[in-house]
Amino acid sequence: SIIAAPREPAPETRVALVPEVVGALVRAGHRVLVESGAGTGAHHDDDAYADAGAEIVAAVDLAAVDVLVHVTPVPAAALRRLRPGAVTLGLDAPLDDADRLAAANAGRVTMLAFERLPRTSRAQSMDVLSSQALAAGYRAVLEAAVRLPRFFPLAMTAAGTVPPANVVVLGVGVAGLQAIATAKRLGAKVSANDIRPDSAEEVRSVGATFIDVGLDSAEGTGTGGYARALGATAAERQQAALAPHIAAADVLITTAAVPGRRAPQLVTADMVAAMRPGSVVVDLAAASGGNVEGSMPGMDVAVPSSRGGGTITVVGLASAASDLPADASRLFAKNVANVVALLTGDDGALVVPLEDDIVAGMALTHDGVTRDREGRPVPA
Ligand code: NAD
Repeated sequence: SIIAAPREPAPETRVALVPEVVGALVRAGHRVLVESGAGTGAHHDDDAYADAGAEIVAAVDLAAVDVLVHVTPVPAAALRRLRPGAVTLGLDAPLDDADRLAAANAGRVTMLAFERLPRTSRAQSMDVLSSQALAAGYRAVLEAAVRLPRFFPLAMTAAGTVPPANVVVLGVGVAGLQAIATAKRLGAKVSANDIRPDSAEEVRSVGATFIDVGLDSAEGTGTGGYARALGATAAERQQAALAPHIAAADVLITTAAVPGRRAPQLVTADMVAAMRPGSVVVDLAAASGGNVEGSMPGMDVAVPSSRGGGTITVVGLASAASDLPADASRLFAKNVANVVALLTGDDGALVVPLEDDIVAGMALTHDGVTRDREGRPVPA
């Protein structure tokens, strides 16, 4: 197949292929086209891609491409230039963008969206949401650490003892677990809460304290290993139980998400204001609705502490994975190559095996039709 990676539009710094992965694709018999400068933001120059076997082009000739791999969604205009039967493979949110869906369907382009990858063990090596959440969870803690006017670790010195920072993590999926692990490595005391029943054991297994808010196990269980939205009374109980833990925290990291919905608001402005001056809140969900009232994507907001004496910094992280472009791209590219392997027939040519649950789940459009997760046609 002919596989192509475009230059991603600014401010995206990641890229869907890195030279190491290009080498593997070329060895597997594919032709790989990379737009000049595509790897600049992730610290790979054209020569590194060329050395790995890629053809460097000023602009990808979309009509000749089999698989267009991307980080940011492919614009409708570019979808219209792809040949019938071509595949796009990357992140596609929002998945209901009517213009893009119509453009793909008009040209019989198959859009494979990583947001729709099944969460099965066979799919783990292709899981872009997990690899990027790992980067984001790590980054969130570093962002908090540089803004906190205190140490993370306990320091016993001749000048006295500095206590460890108290870190609370809300939402313990992939990003939250990585945030816990990172905060622990820096020496903080960490506690965490999630509404999925399995999460208590997951939190304890990484050495943190689980904050039990007294939910029934059914209340937080959704489908496919994900959470579901809490009902109003359960959400109120959760908030009341979390409030004292948040008031005692030096750092609060929030990562809660429910697929296909706005992020749940877990922390009110009053709960933030009740924190000590100098405390730091990092909201990883800021761009998808916000777990913290008043957080702004891409900005630091100073909130006066109701205890007096200064402000709490609320950091709205909008591009945490893009802020680690080298390793985030490396993992992304490996995920991409593992899906490309499913799209490669015995003779090396492009195939779209819809009988495979991974391909079927990811296929947002195919052969002129928009599809749901189960492969059923979605009316336009
Ligand atoms: P996510 O990004 O959708 O959500 C992050 C976390 O927020 C989840 O743990 C969720 O339970 C939590 N959350 C939602 N509403 C909340 C609320 N009101 N209060 C507190 N927490 C709330 O999740 P994710 O990181 O993509 O992972 C979800 C689950 O899927 C995890 O159990 C993860 O281990 C699992 N997973 C499985 C695979 C696989 O098997 N291939 C891959 C990745 C993740």
